[in-house]
Amino acid sequence: MPRAAVSVALPVPLHGTYTYRVDEQHAERVEPGSRVVVPVRGRRVVGVVTAGDPVLDPGREYRVVLEAPDDSPSFTPALMATCRWIAEYYATPLGLVFRAALPALLTGPGKASPAPRTRRVASLATPLATLVERDTVFKRAPKQRVAWELLESLGGRVPIEHLEHQLGVSSSVITALARRGLVTIEREVTMRDAFARRPRKPSVELQPTPAQQSTIDALTSGAPGTVFLLHGVTGSGKTLVYIETLRRIVMEQGRSAIVLVPEIALTPQTVDRFRAAFGNQVAVLHSALSDGERLDAWRAIHSGERRIVVGARSAVFAPLTNVGAIIVDEEHEASYKQGETPRYHARDVAVMRARAEGAITVLGSATPSLESWANAQRGAYHLLNLPDRVGGGALPRVQVVDLRGRKPADLASPFRRVFSEPLETALHETIARGEQAILLLNRRGFSAFVQCGECGDIAACPNCSISLTVHRAPERMTCHYCGHSEPIRVACIKCGGATVRERGLGTQQVERLLLDHLPSARVARMDVDTTSARWAHADILDRVARREVDILLGTQMIAKGLDFPNVTLVGVIDADVGMSLPDFRAAERSFQLMAQVAGRAGRGPKGGHVYIQTRLPDHHAVRAAVEHDFRAFVRQEMLDREFPPYPPTVRLANIVFSATDEPETAATAERGASFLKGLIEGRKVEGIHVIGPAPCPIDRIKNRFRWHLLIRSVNSGRLTRVLGYLATHFDPESRFDMRLVIDRDPVTLL
Ligand code: ADP
Ligand code: ZN
Repeated sequence: MPRAAVSVALPVPLHGTYTYRVDEQHAERVEPGSRVVVPVRGRRVVGVVTAGDPVLDPGREYRVVLEAPDDSPSFTPALMATCRWIAEYYATPLGLVFRAALPALLTGPGKASPAPRTRRVASLATPLATLVERDTVFKRAPKQRVAWELLESLGGRVPIEHLEHQLGVSSSVITALARRGLVTIEREVTMRDAFARRPRKPSVELQPTPAQQSTIDALTSGAPGTVFLLHGVTGSGKTLVYIETLRRIVMEQGRSAIVLVPEIALTPQTVDRFRAAFGNQVAVLHSALSDGERLDAWRAIHSGERRIVVGARSAVFAPLTNVGAIIVDEEHEASYKQGETPRYHARDVAVMRARAEGAITVLGSATPSLESWANAQRGAYHLLNLPDRVGGGALPRVQVVDLRGRKPADLASPFRRVFSEPLETALHETIARGEQAILLLNRRGFSAFVQCGECGDIAACPNCSISLTVHRAPERMTCHYCGHSEPIRVACIKCGGATVRERGLGTQQVERLLLDHLPSARVARMDVDTTSARWAHADILDRVARREVDILLGTQMIAKGLDFPNVTLVGVIDADVGMSLPDFRAAERSFQLMAQVAGRAGRGPKGGHVYIQTRLPDHHAVRAAVEHDFRAFVRQEMLDREFPPYPPTVRLANIVFSATDEPETAATAERGASFLKGLIEGRKVEGIHVIGPAPCPIDRIKNRFRWHLLIRSVNSGRLTRVLGYLATHFDPESRFDMRLVIDRDPVTLL
């Protein structure tokens, strides 16, 4: 139907749509979901048609659509509906949602096709192993030392762009280091498609077990829109369930499907299995694709050439038609939450899209999120269980090493401070038997916390029950939710024991200890790392698979779905660091991490053993991890989320204010809080509360000061309205580059 005018959403941070006239030459090519090029302040901008034939004001002049490049709309009606839901739910302009859903090359008009990407990379040129050496070399250059050590802690090789933009190292410091020969700088072509390079494994035909088969049957007979929560223990064979389900839905019923995985580079084994099973039907969308490759993949999906899309969170926008299933593997993973606008949670978007498509959703995990679990408990999701490992293998034995009350003699050596005797012995034995070990080191805390050396209790806020953070000058412990502050506790309020300040260890430090103490062991380190070093991680995992590594030491990323039968020992070096993060999800995260990493042990016939070092042996997260008892964990944790109320008991939004001036940031956060309180009281909105403002736990990033406030609501729709009102009616002012971020269902409050 030819149209005379259209409503268009533009990729600008403004809410609402804009009306444009359509002249005859384009009239047949503008449908809801089509891209159009329109003039905005003299520039050509790509927008997306949201509706045809809006009512025109005869007295007004309208601009005209310049181009209509799509032969068929870029967005199907179901995908449009999903994007609209995101815009409303997350209080984000619709045009920004559309932009996030499209490959970059389809959002900028007239961009040339990209040349091979290269980037500059800095590497350490000399080891500077001793402190004495460092003190001499960096005597008059403390900034160079900071930069050099940062580079070292990130593995010795980091793209310069990352150093400068994410880590705030100035280019003059990098240049100075290079000039002094301490760092070398070179150009490298970035990896474009690591999966094209990976050998494709031949498909191994596995026969589903009866338990897997009945799960597959339940999934494939689910009514359109059904959401399944598949709770399957580690090693229960969830991947085969996904594959066989897709075989029916895609290969037999001719529909299409999306498989979301937390992070492609960290789950190469899972991706390999989908590629092995479905060959050219699979499009893998991963972060290392060049813009051109991403566009090619998008087109192959849009045209129907590829009907199974495997990818990280943004794959939820894959332009498939006739979607029959969306699978979200490891649904509890925080990486499904997008960290920038639009701040959507891909798991929740998956559910909304599947409903719009008439598809089933499968949320799979050994440690489901509390949100999904609560949805299953109230019947909104359909719970399926795989309680046993494939082949009847036992879950590994988990043993707690209690670090409380260790005697000074036990702590004589730095190695012993980190590795208890049982863990050390187990390491030696494992390596002697030619087996492999995984050591988990929680990410180092960004700030210190206070813990009792006797009972292990971590000092927490009386209002918010999250841990208190130690600040210097003045020395106090502060709550980063409500702003509560008190003197540093020297004695534990639970047992009166003496407290200690903790911060956790760096991976680098622990690696050194291992190398010194187990000189014959081949140690590989995997850090929380740069986005850029991702493919290095896949390479490390391949080395572990080939048994070229005896000990894999790393942060949370090593806990993902790895399946290495020769790993028989897993050690959690300090469970308390994760438990101490000032976040209401600290216990949940810690439990998931312990359970997941424990699940890496004993996947083969040799069985496995797990050691958890902690001062909190009686904490429900630790006990549940020892017993492999997810349900026991949730029972306690659900109670803990009732008072003070946190999700899933209530809905939550985090409102972050940031600017280059500290007092102004604080004042604006206060003003935001008053604005919201005024709104809530003035309109008598019940069940919504504002907490804070307070400085964010990480109170400064890249010279921007950060404050936040929390909105807690008993009802989802009411929170949507309040956030929508805040987004459109509160003016954070533009002085000091003030920015306001609305983060609904935040996965991290740092
Ligand atoms: P999960 O994702 O539930 O932790 P995986 O899907 O990784 O478990 O499966 C664990 C292991 O069991 C893998 O090595 C897989 O190849 C194997 N496996 C799964 N299903 C079967 C089956 N039906 N028969 C034989 N082996 C299987
Ligand atoms: Zn508090």
